[in-house]
Amino acid sequence: METKRLVEKDPPLKKDDLILITGAGGFIGGNLALYFTKKGFTRIRAVDKKPLSEWYLKVPGVESLCLDVSQEDNCHRVCEGAVEVYQLAADMGGMGFIERFRVECLRSILINTHMIEAAWRAGVRRYFFSSSACAYNTDLQQDPNVRALKESDAYPAMAERGYGWEKLISEMFCQEYWAERGMKTLIARFHNVYGPHGTWDGGREKAPAALCRKVIEAIDTGKKSITLWGDGTPTRSFMFIEDCVKGIDLIMHRDDLIATPINLGTSELVSINELLSKIEKIAGVKLKRHHDLTAPRGVAGRNSDNTFIKQVLGWEPNTPLAKGLAVTYQWIHEQYHNRKQGRHVVE
Ligand code: NAD
Repeated sequence: METKRLVEKDPPLKKDDLILITGAGGFIGGNLALYFTKKGFTRIRAVDKKPLSEWYLKVPGVESLCLDVSQEDNCHRVCEGAVEVYQLAADMGGMGFIERFRVECLRSILINTHMIEAAWRAGVRRYFFSSSACAYNTDLQQDPNVRALKESDAYPAMAERGYGWEKLISEMFCQEYWAERGMKTLIARFHNVYGPHGTWDGGREKAPAALCRKVIEAIDTGKKSITLWGDGTPTRSFMFIEDCVKGIDLIMHRDDLIATPINLGTSELVSINELLSKIEKIAGVKLKRHHDLTAPRGVAGRNSDNTFIKQVLGWEPNTPLAKGLAVTYQWIHEQYHNRKQGRHVVE
C-alpha cells in the first residue's frame, strides 16, 4: 500500500551547502558541476571512477575525487556532509553499448543501491536520480511515427533489456526511500542528451556525437561518404545539455515532484536521416549515405510527451536542435583536430 507523506519545507539552500555529484567525470555530471559553480555554489564534491585525466570537465574549485561508487564504503565516504546528491554515475553509452553490454548496465544497480542508502544514512536533504526514456515500455515504440511517451507509459513494464530495467528498479528504490524512509527523492527520465564535453568516439557515443564525428572525418579524409547505422528511419528527440542541467535544477527543487518520475527531453522528433541532414548543413557538405543494416538500431521511434513538465514547471527543454548541434559540432571539430595534432583529448 502506498504511504502518503507530508512534505516538510526545506530550509533555504545556502551557497556553501555541500552538493555531491556522482558520475561527474562524465558528460552530464561534468556540465552540472560547471552549472552549479556558475550559480555561485562554493562546495561541490565531484566523484567518478575514471582517473581525473579522463574527465571531460575538471571544474576549478570543485573537490574532484576518483572513487568507485558501486562500492558501499566509498558511497558512505562521499555522502558525508552532503546536503544534496545528484546521482549520475552509470555504466552506459549509446545504443551500440547498451545492446551489447547488458550485464554492465544491470550492474549499475550496485551504484544506485549503495548510493541511496548512504545518502539516507548521511541525512541528505534531497536525492536526484538520472533515469532514462529507456525505462519506458518498448512495445509502445515500434513505429517511427511514435506517440510521444507520457510518464504513465512505463507500466505495464517492458523496459529496454538491461539498461532500462535497471533504471526502472532504481526509480522504485527512490520512490520507496521517500515512502518508507522520508528522504526526498527526485527522478528525471532523460531523453537523449547531446552537447559539448561528452563522449564523441570510442563506442559509447550517441547518434548526434557519432554523426558529427563521422561528418568531420569524411571532410578531413576527403571520403565524401558516410555509413549510418540502420536505414536512418528511426526517430528520436534530442535535448541540448544546457536544457538538461537547468531541468535537473528545476526538478530537484520542486516539492510536487518528490518521488514522481518526470520526462526531461524535447518533443522535437527527427529521424536519424534528418539528424544527419542538419549536421551536413552545419558542416556545409552533402555526403553519400551507406546504411549498415546489421548495426544495432534500438526502438523504431521515441519521443517525449512534455504535457506534465509544462504543467508543473511552466517550462520545457527548448533549445532548437539546429542551434545545439552547431555548438556540439564545433566542439567535436576542435577535439578531432586536437587529437590529430597529438594533443591530449578525452573521447
Ligand atoms: P557518461 O557515461 O558520460 O557519465 C557517466 C559517468 O559515470 C562516467 O564518467 C563513468 O565513469 C561514471 N561511472 C560509472 N560507473 C561508476 C562507478 N561505479 N563509480 C563512479 N563513477 C562511475 O554518461 P552521461 O551521459 O553523463 O549520463 C549520466 C546519467 O544520465 C547516467 O545515469 C545515464 O544513464 C543517464 N542518462 C543519460 C542520457 C544521455 O543521453 N546522455 C539519457 C538517459 C539517461
